[in-house]
Amino acid sequence: MLAGERDARSARTLGRLLTALEESPIGAGASILTTISRGLRAHVIALTGAPGVGKSTLTAALVKEVRARGRSVGVLAVDPSSPRTGGALLGDRVRMSGFELDRDVFIRSMSSRGALGGLSAATPSAVRALDAAGFETVIIETVGVGQSEVDVCAIADSTVLVAAPGMGDDVQASKAGIVELVDIFAVNKADQPGAVAARRHLRLASADRDVRAGQWRPPVLLTCGATGEGVGPLLDSLEAHQVYLRTSGELDQRRAERFEREMELFAHGMVRAKLQAWREDGRLTGAVRDIAQGSLDPAAAALLLMQG
Ligand code: GDP
Repeated sequence: MLAGERDARSARTLGRLLTALEESPIGAGASILTTISRGLRAHVIALTGAPGVGKSTLTAALVKEVRARGRSVGVLAVDPSSPRTGGALLGDRVRMSGFELDRDVFIRSMSSRGALGGLSAATPSAVRALDAAGFETVIIETVGVGQSEVDVCAIADSTVLVAAPGMGDDVQASKAGIVELVDIFAVNKADQPGAVAARRHLRLASADRDVRAGQWRPPVLLTCGATGEGVGPLLDSLEAHQVYLRTSGELDQRRAERFEREMELFAHGMVRAKLQAWREDGRLTGAVRDIAQGSLDPAAAALLLMQG
């Protein structure tokens, strides 16, 4: 049902699957996902930036623009600081924009468990679930500071760093080395004084980046999420980036790196789950006692753990 025509029922199914993934990223949700996943087809976009720069507002405007171009869009709002509120806010905004009856829009807030920087461990799987449900565009909106920005870049095809005038994000971004990972810069709140100066700063910061001929040069755009101004050009840029990724072969390369990382995350999670099970049923205490008595060594114990 997930892959077919979307209706209220499939939206509920998807919602339940995402809950299962959140509650147990390597448990039941993951095995359902295994049966419906058929390789990523959606364009996965990340919108990141400091709190208050207008990410939710801009996301809502972007959703509207994607829909105006006839494509379906799923949004995952991940808020590490206050689980749920960010997404709820975004949900409210999109509801206000009249998308609540639109089956081609799906919005979900994800609580962050901090397993992946600021991202929920379930986020990569949630992206897959939205993709399997047929959403052509998937937007991950997250508060990004430092590591979580790096993490979100790692799970998206195209990363947009949202900044706002007077917030010092341009400086922060260049310090944290985020500039290297960003595909598009959006100076939001372009209606406010200082937007042009902020764009100049970011242009300078990103000009240092080593871009070879034929490679993608990250544009620095002015947007106004509140009025929708500049949102069309932002989506144009995102579409151009998607074409670039496909034609240059970078999409396959980026995704290969990402899948390796996802596999690693799952493998770590599985080992942690096994250890926890051993801890709970006393096998861990037994193994440690055997190691202390010299009848087992840690490597052999680890092997037993993996096989168990
Ligand atoms: P987030 O924390 O980055 O998701 O930011 P929000 O989308 O919640 O916006 C933070 C504040 O900035 C809210 O009061 C918005 O109404 C306001 N805001 C968002 N976009 C714009 C814009 O383009 N121009 C102006 N002037 N204010 C904006």
